[in-house]
Amino acid sequence: MTKDINQGTKAVWAGEKDQLAFGATQVPVVHSVSFGYEDMDEWYDVAIGKKPGHIYGRNTNPTVQAFEDKVKALEGAEAATSFSTGMAAISNTLSTFLAPGDRVVSIKDTYGGTNKIFTEFLPRQNIDVELCETGNHEALEAEIAKGCKILYLETPTNPTVKITDIERMVTAGKQVGAMVIVDNTFATPINQNPLTYGVDLVIHSATKFLGGHADALGGVVCGDKNLVEPIYHYREINGATLDPMAAYLLLRGMKTLKLRLRQQGDNAMELANYLKSVEWVDDVFYPGLPEHSGHDIATKQMRHYGAMLSFSVKGGVETLRHLLPSLKYANRAANLGSVETVVGPSRTTSHVECTPEERAAMGIPEGLIRVSVGIEDIDDIIQDFQTAFEGLPKERLVNG
Ligand SMILES: *Cc1c(COP(=O)(O)O)cnc(C)c1O
Repeated sequence: MTKDINQGTKAVWAGEKDQLAFGATQVPVVHSVSFGYEDMDEWYDVAIGKKPGHIYGRNTNPTVQAFEDKVKALEGAEAATSFSTGMAAISNTLSTFLAPGDRVVSIKDTYGGTNKIFTEFLPRQNIDVELCETGNHEALEAEIAKGCKILYLETPTNPTVKITDIERMVTAGKQVGAMVIVDNTFATPINQNPLTYGVDLVIHSATKFLGGHADALGGVVCGDKNLVEPIYHYREINGATLDPMAAYLLLRGMKTLKLRLRQQGDNAMELANYLKSVEWVDDVFYPGLPEHSGHDIATKQMRHYGAMLSFSVKGGVETLRHLLPSLKYANRAANLGSVETVVGPSRTTSHVECTPEERAAMGIPEGLIRVSVGIEDIDDIIQDFQTAFEGLPKERLVNG
């Protein structure tokens, strides 16, 4: 049924029906480590996967399954499997398919943890990783053409919201038989469905927009059954299982995914336009702005430009020190994607491991602020920023 209905309806209804019990209208949190059987033959059939059912909580759980089925419907995938965190989804997926001697092509601006896997852990296993300039499609195509097992993309990226052309990269990847993986965390399935462009696997940190309330960690990967099954097998053995309570919180959060993303995206567009008019602001990075480097591609492959933006301020770190503490309606924190607006300097959050020189080389000014725009009324968010800017010492603007 989920094939024929729209995203907002799927967000509310998909994946739940099979897990309802006692006439309850809501999916229960099944806090049970194991599932018992009186019939030995039935137990055996479920254990070998011949019959549907649950055996042990590290493998499967009804609440967790409802979460997986909802994501599966939203991404238009054949199968999905979930994890304790987004990083577990990413690391388990890579570990399932990579072996010594393999080659991976990706971009420099992937999520910080993903970047660490590429630069610290995979090389240790004699897996070669080539990271290209984000947004440089020619460089990516040249590296892909040399052959690779996995082409790993993230679009939009952290923190300057760069865009990669998914369809173009799929074409290049398929020519060399690469598996194409996209981290769709920033866009969400409401704004972008990479599988429709021929991508093999889509990954989410459900901790962010899917959950939407910054109260549960989780990750998920979806795609064709023949690819998701070996990932599920790797996870059931290695044990990075999603907890049923977290699955429930994520599932409940997802019901409002479309509503939240509509409001957050519209808010981000208005905030980006406001920030452009502020004299303290040097640059605003938001793909919805016509001057953004990825605007045209984003317009082509996304339904909305999303809720993530960043901007740089005159006076760098000193200005941040004054500006951020005076915001009333924003959490100063490392997460993103929640109903509250969240702000953080890139030098403290996503790129804390880099030196100022490394950040500069990546096009990340020291005064760059990442904003995950919340669902608040936009007039209040803008007013909050305006008051904070007005409180900055004017002489810094002249001298800074
Ligand atoms: C947060 C994030 C991750 C990692 O997810 P966790 O749930 O924190 O492990 C991966 N990719 C992106 C784009 C993220 O924002």
